[in-house]
Formats: sequence, C-alpha cells, structure tokens
Amino acid sequence: MHIKELVLDNFKSFGRKTRIPFFEDFTVVTGPNGSGKSNIIDSVLFALGLARTSGIRAEKLTDLIYNPGHQDGDGESDEEREASVEVILDNSDHTLERSAVINAAGTEDVGDVEEISIRRRVKETEDNYYSYYYINGRSVNLGDIQDLLAQAGITPEGYNVVMQGDVTEIINMTPHARRQIIDEIAGVAQFDAKKEDAFEE
Ligand code: ATP
Ligand code: MG
Repeated sequence: MHIKELVLDNFKSFGRKTRIPFFEDFTVVTGPNGSGKSNIIDSVLFALGLARTSGIRAEKLTDLIYNPGHQDGDGESDEEREASVEVILDNSDHTLERSAVINAAGTEDVGDVEEISIRRRVKETEDNYYSYYYINGRSVNLGDIQDLLAQAGITPEGYNVVMQGDVTEIINMTPHARRQIIDEIAGVAQFDAKKEDAFEE
C-alpha cells in the first residue's frame, strides 16, 4: 500500500486546491525554504490523525487553515474558514481487506477498495471549531481511522514518518529506549502490554 495522491485545500500555505501525486517507490519534494515542503508532511499527519497539533507545528487546529496574512501575523477574516486534506491510498495489493474498510466506514458501500480515501476537515465558526474525518466519503471517528490504519502498521507510535530531529534523538537514546522503539515498530510492544494486563488479572 502507498499514498497515491494528496489533495490539499486551504491547508497551511496551500491557499488553493492542490493535488500532489506520489509514486509507488520514491517521491522527492524539493523547493526553496519556506515553500511548504514540510507542510505537505504535516498534511498527511493531520489527515491520518497521526499527530497532535504540536507535532504538525501548530498551536491550535485552526492555525492549520490557510491564512493569507500568516507571515505578517495579520488577523483572520470573520467569515467561516475551513481546511481539508484528503489522502488517497493505493490499496491494489489489498494490504487492507475490504471487510476491514467496511468495518471502519460502517457501510458495505465502499466500492472495491483498490483505492481508499481518508479525509479530514477542520472548520472554524465565529466561536468554535469542528473537526471531521471521512473514509471513502463516509463520516467516521478518529478511532475508526486509527483502527483501520493500524491493520497496515500505521500508528501514531509507529515511526511511519521520520520527522526532522528524530534521527538525532534515536542516536542519543539509551539502548533500552531504543529497544522500545524497535519493539513498537515490530509490533511486539502491543503483545508485551497484553501480557502485562493478563498477569495483572
Ligand atoms: P524549509 O526548507 O525551511 O524546511 P519548507 O519548504 O519545509 O521550508 P514549510 O515549513 O513547509 O517550508 O512552510 C513554511 C511556510 O508555511 C511559512 O512561510 C509559513 O508562513 C507558511 N504557513 C504555515 N501555516 C500557514 C497558514 N495557516 N497560512 C498560510 N501560510 C502558512
Ligand atoms: Mg521543512
């Protein structure tokens, strides 16, 4: 399974609807400083629910909505503002089974799941904000997305995305802490946790 395409709409520096294609094996994004390369990674973490706001360099969720005055710290307009990111996964190798997608989306009506679309919106109204998640267009909870992605080994603890600074952090860790990360990635950690629970019972 791999990301096939990202569709960013009004997300961070992407004030216009932007489609970004990804290749099967290797995709590189290049550009000058401040042109939005890291914002693309942030958009994936946002849509898949893999990071807290601090992990995607925002104080609050609504900071992720495109703000034309962002650089000069200008105020935002009064009208309703919204950002959306869609991650289109190529699932033609059936990493995620159709039954798993049906389960997560809560409907049989998910097509042949050769492609899976995961989308998140954040909307700001005058006095509040709202966040919505979708699987193949069906409104779902974050938990549904996390359960589905976990079946493909994609989790908030999974080190699927290596962020700036992570490599140095891993090098500077104690061997014990490093071992914990390897256990997380290998999927052993979840069994250790279950074993501990069982002993406690
Ligand atoms: P570098 O090469 O320095 O790592 P980069 O290409 O990774 O740069 P990003 O960090 O992705 O750049 O983009 C930073 C830019 O995004 C800044 O110019 C910042 O003003 C802009 N930006 C962040 N949030 C918003 C927002 N909500 N609205 C508009 N622009 C934003
Ligand atoms: Mg960057």
